Amino acid sequence: MKELGKKVLAGDIRAASRLIRNLEDQIPNTHIAMQEIFNNTGNAHVIGITGAPGAGKSTLTDEFIYAFRQKDKSVGVLAVDPTSPFTGGALLGDRIRMLRHAEDKKVFVRSLATRCSMGGLSKAVGEGIHVMDALGKEKIIVETCGVGQQEVEIINHAHTVIVVLVPGMGDEIQALKAGLMEVADIFVINKADRDGAGKLYKETLNMVHMSKGAAADNSWNIPVLLVESVLEPHKFAESVDAIREKVEEHYQYLVDNNLLVERMRRKTAAEINEALWGAILQPVLNNLEKDGEIEKMVEQVLKKEIDPYTLADQIASKYVK
Ligand code: GDP
Repeated sequence: MKELGKKVLAGDIRAASRLIRNLEDQIPNTHIAMQEIFNNTGNAHVIGITGAPGAGKSTLTDEFIYAFRQKDKSVGVLAVDPTSPFTGGALLGDRIRMLRHAEDKKVFVRSLATRCSMGGLSKAVGEGIHVMDALGKEKIIVETCGVGQQEVEIINHAHTVIVVLVPGMGDEIQALKAGLMEVADIFVINKADRDGAGKLYKETLNMVHMSKGAAADNSWNIPVLLVESVLEPHKFAESVDAIREKVEEHYQYLVDNNLLVERMRRKTAAEINEALWGAILQPVLNNLEKDGEIEKMVEQVLKKEIDPYTLADQIASKYVK
């Protein structure tokens, strides 16, 4: 495992893929590779792209890669794939477009197969970012499927959060937007060819304007950018490059105002929490599972022979010194 970490530090893409897979599959001792790379993380600019499924995040990400490559930045993309590898699904077809960067050694794209609705997503994302960072990627784009809570969690990982909105998503999006206000550093209105894009743009501008007073400590003016339709490739590329510029501007703002560390404080606390879980609780659970203890406990609690709290106390006194 130590070797695997070393290879990642040397820029070995296959090693990085393997490490990400090991992390996802929770292969024992993978943390040894993480120990090896940790000191070389924290250099990349992490950009989160979030929004409802079908909002056009993958399409935008693909163009972002291009825009950053034009500026000679190396790029990592961590896509949180809502479709399981077993069911496949239409989204896979879209992802294939990212293959246009497949030959480019400075681009590294990985999907996390973890389903959006399942726990552990945050951990997998955080660790995936570390691996890409250690690999030397300067810009890391994290594309999350925007389903409720996960959208908000992106703020624990990204320095700059782009929220993608599209016209015609109905009223429920309005409610969503309220929660999104707190996480968005940049709003993007996508699919300009659709009816209502102009209206949504104005509404979002209004919303940003009205909420300005609420965020007292925030001197960053949240921009709202309308992206030209992908159906007009040239204009589309231009408007995505304009977002790239805003993204860079936001990063500079964070650096100039010493806010980068602030953003990462929460993530670090969550990471310690998760590492503790892995070091303490996971081995205990593994042991219990191995011996078939868990099923026995379930039966005991079902029969009310013992309650879960007493049970946990007993286990804790056995394992925790
Ligand atoms: P994601 O689920 O947010 O990643 O969305 P995708 O990038 O996969 O896009 C969903 C669908 O919207 C795809 O079929 C895209 O081709 C389409 N799409 C993306 N951008 C535009 C656009 O500007 N206009 C229109 N009409 N369709 C778009």
